[in-house]
Amino acid sequence: MSEKAREVAFSWITQNESRIIEISDKIWEYAELGLIEYKSSKLLADELEKAGFKVERGVAGMPTAFVATYGSGRPVIGIMGEYDALPGLSQKKVPWREPLKEGAPGHGCGHNIHGTSGMAAAIAVKVAMEEAGLKGTIKFFGTPAEENFSGKVFMAREGLFKGVDAVISHHPGSMNAATLKSCLAIDSYKFHFYGVSSHAAASPEQGRSALDAVELMNIGVNYLREHVIQEARIHYVIEKGGDQPNVVPAYARSWYYIRAPEREQVEAITKRILDIAKGAALMTGTKLEVQMIDGLYNVIPNKVLSELIVKNMREIGPPEYTDEEMEFAKEISKSIPPEQKREALRKSKRPDWEKLLDVLIDRSVPDPWGEGEIMHGSTDVADISWQAPTKEFSTAAWVLGTPGHSWQVVAQSGMGIGHKSLIFAAKVMAASVIDLMTNEELLKKAWDEFEERLRGRKYKCAIPPEIKPPIDAWSEHSKE
Ligand SMILES: [Zn+2]
Repeated sequence: MSEKAREVAFSWITQNESRIIEISDKIWEYAELGLIEYKSSKLLADELEKAGFKVERGVAGMPTAFVATYGSGRPVIGIMGEYDALPGLSQKKVPWREPLKEGAPGHGCGHNIHGTSGMAAAIAVKVAMEEAGLKGTIKFFGTPAEENFSGKVFMAREGLFKGVDAVISHHPGSMNAATLKSCLAIDSYKFHFYGVSSHAAASPEQGRSALDAVELMNIGVNYLREHVIQEARIHYVIEKGGDQPNVVPAYARSWYYIRAPEREQVEAITKRILDIAKGAALMTGTKLEVQMIDGLYNVIPNKVLSELIVKNMREIGPPEYTDEEMEFAKEISKSIPPEQKREALRKSKRPDWEKLLDVLIDRSVPDPWGEGEIMHGSTDVADISWQAPTKEFSTAAWVLGTPGHSWQVVAQSGMGIGHKSLIFAAKVMAASVIDLMTNEELLKKAWDEFEERLRGRKYKCAIPPEIKPPIDAWSEHSKE
């Protein structure tokens, strides 16, 4: 049954290849920022609806979040898709730096492929379910704002992932990999300090500087660094520091990210930083207002899912590239210094990384690696991985050594190399979902591992219910 289903799914993807690529390229052109991905989310949701999915739009208080469902009963397999772009990364589909529109957003993380590979896999599985008589439910989660406002967490808080048996998602990258790595949990806070303005030269004694509070808080936190765990990361910006030197700043604001390998470690450090902020307000005679923006968990890996994905990647086989694509890859690689590539490969901790030093595009499929390792970023996929066995895998869409969030990513995500990664990923996802739908034992193994890793710990969304998704963030931004 699963063999037939797999054949049907693959042939649907092959037959619809040009449409799938067209959708990815349209989202690439739209390049919409997090929470305002109106055209991108509509394109994906419409396509799923046309294919026979029941689509619920605007879920969890976000106009660009949606859930598309097909089928009924268990197992319920989820696929996640992202479609948000990054500011300032506009870039043409050429192997040198050349913006389409200076300063405009671009798909610097390849999320045009992310959303589309998932959509294609979901429809392919639906067609296979019909033709091969598979039982169960497929759910596509359209998850906005991964880059800035963690759409998935608001969706998780709303309980949208309850009852899902496993979740798969795909992120373009520079390797065909399903690692066992985790990532850093994170808290994001803004600190608003309110003081009293005054003439900074004529009557400074009457002023209370909010900027002083911001600076003293930063000094306190910088001393704290010595007394937190080695793996913690704390970084800040001063978003507002006053207007001009002869006016004592009555208002100042900083924005902090606090990260550590485990959620509870982040919470412990955040607690101390909140005390430091209070101390800074006390020292300067200012008032403090604390605003939580975001709070994410660390990723719970799942070896059963990683091994399943690797098996399917090997069976399907990574794509081959044309001379033209290899030429493009060569040009892109000229913009990546060899030492930067070496460092990126070393950092991947892949056991055979040195063998890849002279490789342009990775066509190998390594065994899952990286148990106990941590990627020093954060993702809202993590919150989902606390609710059901979850794996986000990558396929090679970019030349090895390509830095994340870069013009090189934008360029490659819109041309042949990215397109091939998209089609390959859609097939791998479809095959993996079909395996999970048809093999009860496999799903049980994934759950056993999930429960063993959590050891009784339960997911409780870190963002309190009163905090709403910041859907006006961009219009507020443009006002300042
Ligand atoms: Zn990304």
